[in-house]
Amino acid sequence: MSNTYESMWLELGLNLDAHNSLLEVLGKGYTDIYLSQKDRPEGMGYFDFVMSEVHGLRIKELVEEKKQGRKIIGSYCVFVPEEIALAANATLVGLCSGADFALEEVEKYLPRNTCALIKSAFGFKLGQVCPYLEAADMVVGENTCDGKKKAYESLGTLMDNLYVMDLPQMKSGRSRDLLRSEYDRFKLAVEKLTGIAITQDSLKQAIGIVNAKRSALHRLNQLRKSDPVPISGLDALLANQVFFYDNPARFTESVHKICDELEKRIDAKKGVVPEKTPRILISGCPMAVPNWKLPWIIETSGAVIVGEESCVGERGTRNLTRDSGTTMDELMDAITDRYFDVDCAIFTPNQDRMDHVEEMANAYGADGVVHYGLQFCQPYMMEAIPLEKALEEKDIPCLRIETDYGMEDLGQLKTRIEAFIEQLK
Ligand code: SF4
Ligand code: SF4
Repeated sequence: MSNTYESMWLELGLNLDAHNSLLEVLGKGYTDIYLSQKDRPEGMGYFDFVMSEVHGLRIKELVEEKKQGRKIIGSYCVFVPEEIALAANATLVGLCSGADFALEEVEKYLPRNTCALIKSAFGFKLGQVCPYLEAADMVVGENTCDGKKKAYESLGTLMDNLYVMDLPQMKSGRSRDLLRSEYDRFKLAVEKLTGIAITQDSLKQAIGIVNAKRSALHRLNQLRKSDPVPISGLDALLANQVFFYDNPARFTESVHKICDELEKRIDAKKGVVPEKTPRILISGCPMAVPNWKLPWIIETSGAVIVGEESCVGERGTRNLTRDSGTTMDELMDAITDRYFDVDCAIFTPNQDRMDHVEEMANAYGADGVVHYGLQFCQPYMMEAIPLEKALEEKDIPCLRIETDYGMEDLGQLKTRIEAFIEQLK
């Protein structure tokens, strides 16, 4: 891929040497973790292709869009409504933050005890290795946890196109009003960026596009309820990760194609693992590309992952936006209601998430829950304790894992996970 796209990367301002070393690590990780899996659905070939061209073809498409005057908006959180970007003829891409980069440089801006996700966002900027970030005309940060909130103050000194969205922390009427007013403010900012006024029709159409891609993932999730399960957790996670930066219509079509294939597999009782393999629900912090460490350990230790209670998973995609509104006000209200239901651990109290994890564990026939918390992530690590208690009261075993993007704890994690899976058997 390197030679074909070098001039494009240079024009975007990437550091070619640093970028090549990132691509090397990414390529090797993908080969070792993804391509070594057995009995994958043929439809995953599309996602293998997307990953092989993740900094190539997709970036070329975005650069072409920019040449035609379309704006690119980068986002770090599932609270940034893609519907509003699309309605103003802009493209929204998720900025992944799933790998360590330029750590020494990063620690000149952030204390060492900052979560890996935030450090990664800085590392990709300081190392000049993310073409999505460099292609973005606007980057949206949000006031979620304290780490992110304060980090954006420094990140804003490294880029001149950072827009910060204020988010509520409680599920009250006043908080919902805040979210609505922030979405109104975001709508104005996007209209200013693109020079395009959002209309009822364009917003309604955008709601339809985003609902369609979420619905495709709902269909995929339903199929994972079968035993034997027809697709690995790693592959399903990949579809959830690609959701954030692929072309929406092409993504939707590709997921449906896989689902058609999985339905045939289910009819033929063909699983990716044998029937009665221990089934795990993952819950916790989001896993952005190329953060595949924990699922890889779980699925090479005799279990299969059947669901992700995560923003890169069901927490991020389970709700659709009402599309029945006929006025701008009704449509903006529908968008607000849809996102206000996301039960991120930054909310207090957050009983909805407790209930949802239990509901998912039952619906997917999970034998146990692995709670994944990033080191130094207070919201998820703190919430993990009452969550574990609540699950155990319902006889759902739970293992709390705290880790980061490094590989130093691989052996220790594997030992703990193998013991947990043994206990489930
Ligand atoms: S976990 Fe919270 S802060 Fe992180 S992406 Fe999800 S909603 Fe946003
Ligand atoms: S993982 Fe936790 S600490 Fe890190 S950005 Fe997300 S909510 Fe904040």
